[in-house]
Amino acid sequence: MAGSDALRAIPSVDKILSCSELQPALEEYGRARCTEEIRKVLAALRDAVTNSTECDIPDSASIANQVIAELSARNEDTLVPVLNLTGTVLHTNLGRAYLPEKALEAVTRIARGASNLEFQLDSGIRGDRDEHIASLLTELTGAESVTVVNNNAAAVLLCLNTLAEGREVCISRGELVEIGGSFRIPEVMAKSGCNLAEIGATNRTHRDDYVKAINEQTGLLLKVHTSNYEIRGFTNEVSYDDVAALSREYSVPFMADLGSGTLVNLEDYGLAHEPTVQEVLSAGADVVTFSGDKLLGGPQAGIIAGRKELIDRIKQNPLKRALRVDKMTMAALTEVLKLYLNPEKLIEELPTLAFLSRSREDIASTAEAMLPVFESALQGIANVAVIDSQSQIGSGALPLDQLPSCAIEITPIDGSDSALRKLVSAFRNLPTPMIGRMQDGRLLFDLRTVTNVDAVATQLKNLGGQ
Ligand SMILES: *Cc1c(COP(=O)(O)O)cnc(C)c1O
Repeated sequence: MAGSDALRAIPSVDKILSCSELQPALEEYGRARCTEEIRKVLAALRDAVTNSTECDIPDSASIANQVIAELSARNEDTLVPVLNLTGTVLHTNLGRAYLPEKALEAVTRIARGASNLEFQLDSGIRGDRDEHIASLLTELTGAESVTVVNNNAAAVLLCLNTLAEGREVCISRGELVEIGGSFRIPEVMAKSGCNLAEIGATNRTHRDDYVKAINEQTGLLLKVHTSNYEIRGFTNEVSYDDVAALSREYSVPFMADLGSGTLVNLEDYGLAHEPTVQEVLSAGADVVTFSGDKLLGGPQAGIIAGRKELIDRIKQNPLKRALRVDKMTMAALTEVLKLYLNPEKLIEELPTLAFLSRSREDIASTAEAMLPVFESALQGIANVAVIDSQSQIGSGALPLDQLPSCAIEITPIDGSDSALRKLVSAFRNLPTPMIGRMQDGRLLFDLRTVTNVDAVATQLKNLGGQ
């Protein structure tokens, strides 16, 4: 068929709307969306007919099926759970910390309906959402006061803007970090309206460099945790204690951005020491900022702890309103903080800490249990073995620290790069995508953050169909 005959043969919108194939879609997506999609499909068909000399016109049923396919493709979730087998526990691109069970329950409980988020039940007057975490956080950190915003980048921006807008902020050249995803201290400084006063050299900064830089324009002394790098060799850094002493001597507030920030001594969990929020506050920092979803193991948030007078000013900044957290974050954060009140049980209940302190032996036994599952799924395609591996904390905590771990090593039998890529992509296209890391022609699945052998086994049944 061709030309006007063909155009006339195209079924009408109404005909397709009433055809039986389309009825379930009408129920699921509604009449308006279906009609719109039918119009689009028919318009494309009309174009095709107009531009060709010979054309088969599909019947109503096949047009309906095409409409359904388009609608369901667009309805597919783009945000889905994955298995993090990269060996990086706090993987920013994979959503960082896993929330503990109690936090998940609290989120559903609070998000389902109304709550007293900003309402004081005893007096019946308007409340402050920060009150839900204030007493927990002051108890845990020793700070006079606290507030919480959307993430730590927001916390840094808000503190700088409140404490030093239009003034100079002294920071060591060795601490001008860039965190992945375009968070750079000099740029945040500019956006917050502060003037960066770089001091010292990249590898060495001394007390005297602060003394020389401080003048009547100075609004803040800032120390930033060098989260994702380490300066080694001929180095010198001015300690939190010494910057705090300078801050008192010259009456300039001192802010410390801890980045990951932790409330526990990581050495108790077999990890290297990271300065805790408590230590930095008791060293004399006036304000400390840290993330909620890095080492703390909670929801995305930025926590600001410090002297009451400064926190009050920070809370009055109109930017605080723009950066505040929602009730779900509050609910989750409260539960996570409550776990810290009982350090003995913390490791059982907080997934982040459980993963970070998991022994190589324990991971190895998971790997051995999983090996046959992988072997049978990949028979004739790849060789599989259990190997030693190194995991990382991730998200800018102890960047050079390697945690001894175990991985499933998958090597394509033909050893080719294309076979490897095909495998990687097959694992990535599973119902629950499995994300590992490629290294020297092999795919590695580090098992530090995975304990459920059965879940992986069920997954791998789907691999055959790829
Ligand atoms: C991670 C990090 C930030 C940003 O924190 P987010 O919670 O990702 O916004 C800021 N400063 C330092 C030093 C960090 O490590």
